[in-house]
Amino acid sequence: MKNFFRDLGYSIKTFFQGRYGSDMLSWTLIIAGLIISMGSGYVKAEVVSKILTIMSFAMICFALYRTYSKNIEARQKELAAFKHAFSGPINSIKMISLKKKDPEHLYVKCPNCKTILRVPKGKGRIIITCPKCQNKVELKS
Ligand SMILES: [Zn+2]
Repeated sequence: MKNFFRDLGYSIKTFFQGRYGSDMLSWTLIIAGLIISMGSGYVKAEVVSKILTIMSFAMICFALYRTYSKNIEARQKELAAFKHAFSGPINSIKMISLKKKDPEHLYVKCPNCKTILRVPKGKGRIIITCPKCQNKVELKS
């Protein structure tokens, strides 16, 4: 019996070895999948409800597949693409609160990498360099 548990522990350990593990994208897929699956119960149209159920199931399956995947490079690429796609809207929300807190500065998004750039107001026409991607942005402050 002692050996059984030792072996079991060993196989669990080797199973998780070299696996990608969970990341922000997997968690987002799982949470969104659960919300959609719960929401599908309230949808009256049966076809739509079924589609939502399948969609949520697929999202959760994909999240689990990513977690146990050994292709770490591909998973990292997906995560980067996901972050890139969502950084725009997330930064837009951030900028609204930044503008409120700090009316002395101008906040603009780098058109290339979507990083928020802080610019002093009232300097006229200036060119700023994005610290992240070195992209040059010309603007009037
Ligand atoms: Zn940039």
